[in-house]
Amino acid sequence: MAKEDKEIKCSFCGRTKKDSDILIAGITGHICSHCVVQAQTIVKDELGAKNSSSFNALQLLKPIEIKKHLDEYVIGQDEAKKVLSVAVYNHYKRLILSQTKTTGKEEIEVDKSNVIMVGETGTGKTLLARTIAKVLNVPFCIADATVLTEAGYVGEDVESILSRLLQAADFDVAAAERGIVFIDEIDKIARKSDNPSITRDVSGEGVQQGLLKLLEGSVVGVPPQGGRKHPEQKMIQVNTKNILFICGGAFDGIVRNIGSRLSTQAIGYGVNKEAASVDKDNLLQYVSPQDFKSFGLIPELIGRLPVLTYLNPLDADTLLRILSEPKNALIKQYTHLFDMDGVKIKFEKGVLDFIVEKAMEFKLGARGLRSICEAIMMDMMFDTPSDKTVKEITVTLRYAKEKLKKSTLNKLKVA
Ligand code: ADP
Repeated sequence: MAKEDKEIKCSFCGRTKKDSDILIAGITGHICSHCVVQAQTIVKDELGAKNSSSFNALQLLKPIEIKKHLDEYVIGQDEAKKVLSVAVYNHYKRLILSQTKTTGKEEIEVDKSNVIMVGETGTGKTLLARTIAKVLNVPFCIADATVLTEAGYVGEDVESILSRLLQAADFDVAAAERGIVFIDEIDKIARKSDNPSITRDVSGEGVQQGLLKLLEGSVVGVPPQGGRKHPEQKMIQVNTKNILFICGGAFDGIVRNIGSRLSTQAIGYGVNKEAASVDKDNLLQYVSPQDFKSFGLIPELIGRLPVLTYLNPLDADTLLRILSEPKNALIKQYTHLFDMDGVKIKFEKGVLDFIVEKAMEFKLGARGLRSICEAIMMDMMFDTPSDKTVKEITVTLRYAKEKLKKSTLNKLKVA
């Protein structure tokens, strides 16, 4: 046996078992660990870094196709979907243009199309950005603007946003460099006062200035683990030129800015019929860069977010559709969960309306649907898996009311 072992050699380099840590046996030969590593390098080089990443070659879908995908997950918000689809399409076209530069012809540089979305909390801003990234199969991360502070102060450096993107891309820098970053709560870094010199505004204007660098496209040193940069830490260089930034915020109170701008326009020179037909119930749809400026965003930052759109508040009909229509709608999820235990679940007519009614009452938006459903379903989800006799179950309106009444959620009831 010992003699036999000695004779085994790597069929590629001839190393004996003694010279190699591991010899892997194949049908007709062996390969040593050295050759495996070398072969892996060759394969990687041949295929190119892009193909070896889980983020494959870019899928350039047409705007209508992108919107169709969004429709599967996001209910309503047609205007935002349309604007985003076009912005994303143009962004990636720009990326392709930069990769396949034609010689001879005069180059036309297409500007970056970073997006700013305004809409009440829970109306689908994050969901839209997340779904877009999924459709395109590019790395995606969510960053919260509220934790960012100016360099040198407690909080996170703006570059930490890119650490998350790198993590999402498994540290494949090339993939991260064409990813999408969703910056949530961008409204929270608005300048607090109209007079910028009144106090140091470390979490407001200073952060906006810091973000400029990322949004316009530059090479920045990113701390791999995020947080604050240390001088001794090794930075990863990331070029943000082709990273798409989508910013979102509720911009509480911006409707007042929009309203006063519209009314000034209406009484000003050139009053027209259009101004008179303003839909006062949904002023967000008239949002313009000026309104962001009056809210406290600096003009340079607004300039780097050229595509702006809004999300509509969710009414009862939309909430009802959100419960059951999207590909991963809550009702479909519960049905699937019970199905896995061999139980068919049904919801009595009126239960879904009741859930929506409560979500509206608690002012929790679409996010509230989940908490309400959980409160209603918890006992069933606890008991049913252990009860082999149950094959079918119906959630009645009476049951739903009773369970919600007993839950702590009921305390949220708006007075
Ligand atoms: P926002 O970022 O605007 O605060 P989110 O996108 O995080 O809101 O929405 C919260 C949750 O509510 C989502 O995970 C999703 O389940 C649901 N939701 C909100 N709006 C919609 C919508 N228009 N269509 C489908 N689901 C929605």
